[in-house]
Amino acid sequence: MDSLWNEQDAEQQADTLALRVYSSRLLGGDPALVLHGGGNTSVKITEQTLFGQPEAILYVKGSGWDLGTIAKPGFAPVQMAHLLRLATLSELSDLQMATELRRATTNPSAPAPSVEAILHAILPFTYVDHTHADALIALTNTPDGEAHVRRTYGDRVVIIPYIMPGFALAKLCAKLYAEQAGPQTVGMVLMNHGLFTWGATARAAYEQHIQLVTEAEQYLAANAAWQISVPEFSTPTGPLRQEIATLRKDISAAAGFPLIIRAHSDAQCLSFAQRPNLAIIARQGPVTPDHIIRTKQLPLIGRDVAGYVAEYGEYFAQHSQGRPLKMIDPAPRVVIDPQIGVLTAGRTIKDALIAEDIYRHTIDIILRAEANGGYRALPSQDLFDVEYWDLEQAKLKKSGSPPVFAGQIALVTGAASGIGKACVEALVARGAAVAAIDINSQVQQIFHRPEILPLVADITDPVAIEAAIEATVCAYGGLDMLILNAGMFGASRQIAALDDDAWQQIMRVNVDSNLRLLRIAHPLLKLSPSGGRVVVIGSKNVPAPGPGAAAYSASKAALTQLARVAALEWGKDGIRVNILHPNAVFDTAIWTEEVLQTRAASYGLSVEQYKTNNILRVEVTSRDVAELAAELCGALFAKTTGAQIPIDGGNERVI
Ligand code: ZN
Repeated sequence: MDSLWNEQDAEQQADTLALRVYSSRLLGGDPALVLHGGGNTSVKITEQTLFGQPEAILYVKGSGWDLGTIAKPGFAPVQMAHLLRLATLSELSDLQMATELRRATTNPSAPAPSVEAILHAILPFTYVDHTHADALIALTNTPDGEAHVRRTYGDRVVIIPYIMPGFALAKLCAKLYAEQAGPQTVGMVLMNHGLFTWGATARAAYEQHIQLVTEAEQYLAANAAWQISVPEFSTPTGPLRQEIATLRKDISAAAGFPLIIRAHSDAQCLSFAQRPNLAIIARQGPVTPDHIIRTKQLPLIGRDVAGYVAEYGEYFAQHSQGRPLKMIDPAPRVVIDPQIGVLTAGRTIKDALIAEDIYRHTIDIILRAEANGGYRALPSQDLFDVEYWDLEQAKLKKSGSPPVFAGQIALVTGAASGIGKACVEALVARGAAVAAIDINSQVQQIFHRPEILPLVADITDPVAIEAAIEATVCAYGGLDMLILNAGMFGASRQIAALDDDAWQQIMRVNVDSNLRLLRIAHPLLKLSPSGGRVVVIGSKNVPAPGPGAAAYSASKAALTQLARVAALEWGKDGIRVNILHPNAVFDTAIWTEEVLQTRAASYGLSVEQYKTNNILRVEVTSRDVAELAAELCGALFAKTTGAQIPIDGGNERVI
């Protein structure tokens, strides 16, 4: 592992805390050291109180902050004197400790100090760095873990046997540090947990950390346990969407809410999933206990969700030991399937991505530990205690109640502009993950967030559409909502001048492609854990066609009829199909200046009059239509299907 210390960058840090931020980010930026909120750092600073008294303060990482992106406000300032007094107590419950840490924080608006604050305080060094480095864990999580650590570092580290984080860990570290540390001591290895280093300067603590991690890597390399060879593996031969969506339905049913599922069929995941000893090596437990809230203790191997749920129930009953605990949902968060690879699940795309990151590191650590004598996780009671530890569960609850479409997946066509783009935004704002399809490659420049999968596809191309839907299911796990928005208006033309090609082109885009989309989507919508929903963007031209728009009006009428029949046929599958008829939405791609002027002229109006030419005298925007489309997918319309709703400001010909 290379040191990323840059003296020029470091010199630009204005003060001690800024330097603390700088080196924390160096540690936090490397996923081989720290993953998703893991690890913590601190610095001790003597400050002046308001009354001119010097006071030693521990600035320690606050909970809810990530080391990779931490800033000054992410460090909680805690009075050292109070922390050191707390360390002299013989017992302190988690709740008391949290209260005391809060009480000793000198800034009331600071985040809650890390549960490892007392441990940081008792180490008599200015800077203290702590990570859950992969290489260290690969050493400790083996039957001879302690011997490997000793052989790697000799007597330069104090070894701390595994104990749950919190007050007891701080006490144990204080005791063993006092007994064993000497001038040779440069770090502390916490078995099945991670590494502490320290120094008088930020650089010294950081460089020492990198040095010790590098030595662990070298030790593993010397034992042929660092480079992981990828054995031969077979790749899926056909589409996987049906299998993945079925699995998602089962897992969501077990959880009691819809989940996002990401399928990973790359070399790392498939080769791991096809290892002959998978059932042994993948069923030991997580590499470090704080991963358990993201991955659960064990992955599901294969697809027997019911079997997994039963096993989780037994695990809970066995380890809760009569304590008044409420069982967490028993659904797996990691699935290993020899055909698909590794799948990760989460209530949100972020949670599924965290589970993915953690499991990819888990695979590497398991394989390295296996090559170094065998992977061994903690006993399941220790893991259970962390899984059901209030302080860990609080991390998950922090985000509050989930948005209405949390865990749900939508697909929007014509997503690069106008109503389609607004639909993507309206659905994402309600917590959905959305595949945004457009023929215009601009779609890939517009959307840059994990909740949105931009896909370039011509909806009239059956191969491209099937690939887009397959990609959606691999990225998110299924399909719950389909917004058929893409369409074309075509040049204004009287029937007498309307040629076959112009007619057929509009029919191909507005009708044929949507039939195909509905057909491909149906088996997936049927598997939706929350009931499939389709919203068709029709047109005012269905109830009130306009001259010069024969092909467009006829195509939207055909599409409407198609949707109504879908509502009839799919009700038994729990799928709702509804239609919106917008009118005069001018911030869309089809309303070019030319079309706008021609249409206005055909009604004898100016463009301005044409825009608000409705009963309410209001302009209808893409966002108005999108918000209604999103609501149509929500609880408000849970008992509505086959409906046609105008969104046009009121139109005499429609009313
Ligand atoms: Zn830790």
